[in-house]
Amino acid sequence: MGTLQAVSGMNDLLPGDGTTARWQRLEADFRAVCSRYGFAEVRTPLCESLELFQRGVGETTDIVEKEMYTFKDRGDRTLALRPEGTASAVRAALEHRVLDREPVVRWSYLGAMFRAERPAKGRYRQFHQVGAEIYGDASAAADAEVIDLATSFLASLGITQCTVRLNSLGGPDARARYRDALVAYFTPHRDALSPDSASRLERNPLRILDSKDPRDQPLKAAAPSILDSLGDEDRAHFELLQQYLRALGVPFEVTPSLVRGLDYYTRTVFEIVDTSGSLGAQDTLCGGGRYDALFTELGSHAPVPAIGFAMGIERLLLAAPQPEAPKPFRVAVVAAAKSHETPVLAAALALAKELRANGVTATVDTRFGSMKSQMRRADDLGSTVVLVLGGNEVANGTVTMKRMATGEQQSLPRAESIHTLATEALGAR
Ligand code: AMP
Repeated sequence: MGTLQAVSGMNDLLPGDGTTARWQRLEADFRAVCSRYGFAEVRTPLCESLELFQRGVGETTDIVEKEMYTFKDRGDRTLALRPEGTASAVRAALEHRVLDREPVVRWSYLGAMFRAERPAKGRYRQFHQVGAEIYGDASAAADAEVIDLATSFLASLGITQCTVRLNSLGGPDARARYRDALVAYFTPHRDALSPDSASRLERNPLRILDSKDPRDQPLKAAAPSILDSLGDEDRAHFELLQQYLRALGVPFEVTPSLVRGLDYYTRTVFEIVDTSGSLGAQDTLCGGGRYDALFTELGSHAPVPAIGFAMGIERLLLAAPQPEAPKPFRVAVVAAAKSHETPVLAAALALAKELRANGVTATVDTRFGSMKSQMRRADDLGSTVVLVLGGNEVANGTVTMKRMATGEQQSLPRAESIHTLATEALGAR
């Protein structure tokens, strides 16, 4: 029988090369930055009804048209693995009537998302996002805080070579005006468009601006600007947002061609793009925007303004510098005993347990081979200190402590060794 492999585009994270540790540090950084901005974590299921994403993401988006993992469960319900986090979070806020209790909700999330895209560097089929959203606040200040949160998080990861691209799609009136302007502009050139874009001309002409197809680029470049279709209030909101961002010291570039792939955006949209070149073609680190119509789309009786962003963890880790991780402080307990000397082996296990209870990372080679092999294993694990326990030590209540860096060795009372190592472990943190 052949060995089995993970599904293409779905990756393992292994602890041995430090990958898992980098992910954990990034997740901890995200939670810390979010909590400083007053965002609390929500966790929603990986799987939802297909209808949620059809309504929430939009029928004509690439995600819904081509990329979702959908299936029937045993009860013949049509479900989908979540392709993004916002629709689920909004569904949860509505289902649990969160806005009846709190006028403004700040939620963050992190976890796996699924899209059947062609795998490439920075593009996977199971990928992971961190995201944050504000519900119940229509102000440009909320937009500014969300963008500021995103850039602060990037800074905390050491990602400095990036640009915030900003645009406004206006409200429904502006979108309708712009739609008409685009249809009028593209229709005479229909035959020059890629087939995908030509088919979107009636259904969702804004999405043509999202196209990466080379055939669409010359026409896209000369297309009318959405900024010319904005109404007075949309324009005032966009101006105010820019003032706030300047006050917060967040640099940005107004990018009128930025429309983003999802249907639900209104007014503010933004992306943060890596400019270091380390990501190749998949250089968008963050995508976000305001989606004031999504709550009603998902069944809310009252409209609820909302804004949020999502970032791909894999891309953040490709873009972030990789500082040498400090060597952790760890202790190995070695039993100087034959395999039948159970009390000594048991004492070694108990000593490791007590060290752990005192905050020390401690290991025991539970195969209990020879002293030599246990010492070699301790060394391979990068142990800072080895505690050796034999029959005499157990009888006297002592241990032999060996410092691996210097080879220096001393005998001391068991309790004292625990106290000393607990203090050192605390200092090494
Ligand atoms: P979106 O939900 O499409 O706005 O994407 C937000 C962010 O998620 C992007 O900027 C990427 O960083 C990340 N992302 C989206 N799709 C993928 C994917 N297939 N693989 C890896 N990261 C992704």
